[in-house]
Amino acid sequence: MDTVTDNSNSAKTVLYIEDNPVNLTLVKKIIEKKTDYHFLSAVEPMSGLECANSEIPDLILLDIFLPGIDGYEVLKRLQENPDTANIPVIALSANAMQNDIDKGRAAGFIEYLSKPIDVAGFLETINQVLDT
Ligand code: MN
Repeated sequence: MDTVTDNSNSAKTVLYIEDNPVNLTLVKKIIEKKTDYHFLSAVEPMSGLECANSEIPDLILLDIFLPGIDGYEVLKRLQENPDTANIPVIALSANAMQNDIDKGRAAGFIEYLSKPIDVAGFLETINQVLDT
């Protein structure tokens, strides 16, 4: 038997931190139907940070308007922790005017996507981020 391990199909993990159950369900359905990625979610920022620290996902999708601390503060805390500092983070926000996008990129979001989600564009973006 060939003992060479092929990791090319090993599933990547996506964590979505989002307090809106409608958005959470939509993204979960898209990822579970259209990709092989493992999907994790958290509905509030502190549990999201705990999940990021324990699971070290390959990608984090982050809502901006969250209860308690906002997405920018969550991103900052991820960046301050060496274990999570290199995880790519995509912002998902209803506010996606050019100045929001510029501010998000300057803060360190790898992409800044608007809600409601464009399914094809969303999948293309997450596939691109996870392929690199
Ligand atoms: Mn929200």
